[in-house]
Amino acid sequence: MTNIILFGPPGSGKGTQANLLVERLGLLHISTGDLFRYEMGNNTPLGLEAKSYIEKGELVPDSVTMGMLKNKLDANPNVKGIIFDGVPRTVAQAAILDGQLAARNAEISALIALDVEEEEIVNRLLERGKTSGRSDDQNEATIRNRIKVYHNETAPVFNFYAEKGKSFKVQGMGSIEEIAQRLADTINSL
Ligand code: ADP
Repeated sequence: MTNIILFGPPGSGKGTQANLLVERLGLLHISTGDLFRYEMGNNTPLGLEAKSYIEKGELVPDSVTMGMLKNKLDANPNVKGIIFDGVPRTVAQAAILDGQLAARNAEISALIALDVEEEEIVNRLLERGKTSGRSDDQNEATIRNRIKVYHNETAPVFNFYAEKGKSFKVQGMGSIEEIAQRLADTINSL
C-alpha cells in the first residue's frame, strides 16, 4: 500500500492536490475536514460535537477524530493506498494512526508538506470563504487561530515522521498543475 500524508497549514492546497492525486494514482482520499462537514451537514451527534470546536478554529479532540478515522479505515479494507488529508494533526494522532495502520499490516509511506507563505494562506482562506459556505473561512480571527494551532500542535508531526526518514517538503506556491507535478515526482521517487 502507498499511504501518503498530505501535510501543510490550512489553505495550503491539500484538498485540491489530494483530489488530483487520487484521480491519477487510484488511491482513497480521506479528509477528516470533509468527514466532519458531512456529519455536521447531517446534524449527527458527532457533527454537533465537532462543530463546537471547528467554529472556533480549534482541533476536535483526538479520541473523536481517530474513532471516526478508524471507522473509515474499517469500511475500506481493500484499497491500494490512502491519501490522508488533514490528519494526523497532532503527534498523538500520528502515533494512533501508525497503530491503526500496523493493525492492518500497513504503514505510512511518506509525509509530504506543502510549503506556502503565511500571508498567501490568509488571503486564500478569506477568498475561499466567499464561496465555500464554510463559516470557519469567513472569520479572520478563526483563520488566525487555525494557523496558530497549526504551528503549535500540527507542525511537530513533520518532525515525528522526519525522524523515520519519511518527511518531504514541496514548494506549494505556483500553479495547481506545477504543484501536482512536484508531488507526483516526490511520490515516484519513494
Ligand atoms: P483546513 O485545512 O482548511 O483547516 P479542514 O477541512 O482540514 O480545513 O479542517 C477543518 C476543521 O476541522 C479544522 O479546523 C479542525 O477544527 C477540524 N479537523 C479536521 N481534521 C482534524 C483532525 N485531524 N483533528 C482535529 N480536528 C480536525
